[in-house]
Amino acid sequence: ARQRHLLIHVGAIDGHRVAVFIRDISERRRFEMMRRDFVTNVSHELKTPAGAIALLAETITDAADDPDAVRYFSGRISKESERLTNLVQRLIELQRAESTSGVASAQQVDALDVVKDAAQQNAVQAEHKHIDIRVTHSGGPAVVRVDRRALTTAVKNLIENAIHYSPSDTTVTADVARHDAEGTVTIRVIDQGIGIPEQSLDRIFERFYRVDPARSRDTGGTGLGLAITKHCVEECGGTISAWSHEGSGSTFTIELPLDGDADEADASDGAGA
Ligand code: ADP
Repeated sequence: ARQRHLLIHVGAIDGHRVAVFIRDISERRRFEMMRRDFVTNVSHELKTPAGAIALLAETITDAADDPDAVRYFSGRISKESERLTNLVQRLIELQRAESTSGVASAQQVDALDVVKDAAQQNAVQAEHKHIDIRVTHSGGPAVVRVDRRALTTAVKNLIENAIHYSPSDTTVTADVARHDAEGTVTIRVIDQGIGIPEQSLDRIFERFYRVDPARSRDTGGTGLGLAITKHCVEECGGTISAWSHEGSGSTFTIELPLDGDADEADASDGAGA
């Protein structure tokens, strides 16, 4: 069982009676601990590239009369500063995902449009690795009521990872399906990449969790992408799950409630498809 933290106030009411107030602050304590861990992680992640930059800058000064060395070290400096920029950008995204309430900005959108947008946003990286992004669709119009930006961020991150963790000349499939019987819309991002070990599957959505920290860092990963993605999906009223066969690929599935009013809306203003 989890340890509970209770705050007990004892106050005298008069000479004969005392009042005892007991407040359960376990949640608050847990939250504070999580926040502290987070700050520790962020500091560590920032310190690593910052320290590397300082060291490289020093080295470059020593090697000033060797053009090859200068070129090599300045390349490394660029890479490290890119890592810093990525991390700060991700932190801003995470902060935004955690602080906005999707309910306020929910609108009716076609999940297929969102997936096409997200695929488009990854087109350059995909082309770079000769990866074919295939968008497929089944069932009727996949209309959902969500914060469009949040859903786009989520799908964009999944496709980005799919490309990132796949070898060249493979296919990433982004599939949108409407399931009338279940009243849901699913978005699946399927890759033919390195896969995820089974024991890591339920941890990959944690902030800063990486299956292979060195590989992730080397390739510009921050370990925040899936934490942001999960937040965005939940903000959209959905759930996300991962499935994988190590060595042959991964599938991420977002499930969202189908917008109940979608069909009438389709009929009246032609929105959706
Ligand atoms: P990162 O910036 O490291 O990619 P994420 O939060 O996006 O961070 O992902 C967490 C970890 O989950 C990654 O470091 C990687 O080990 C694993 N992962 C995520 N997506 C995939 C994928 N499509 N294929 C294989 N591994 C993945």
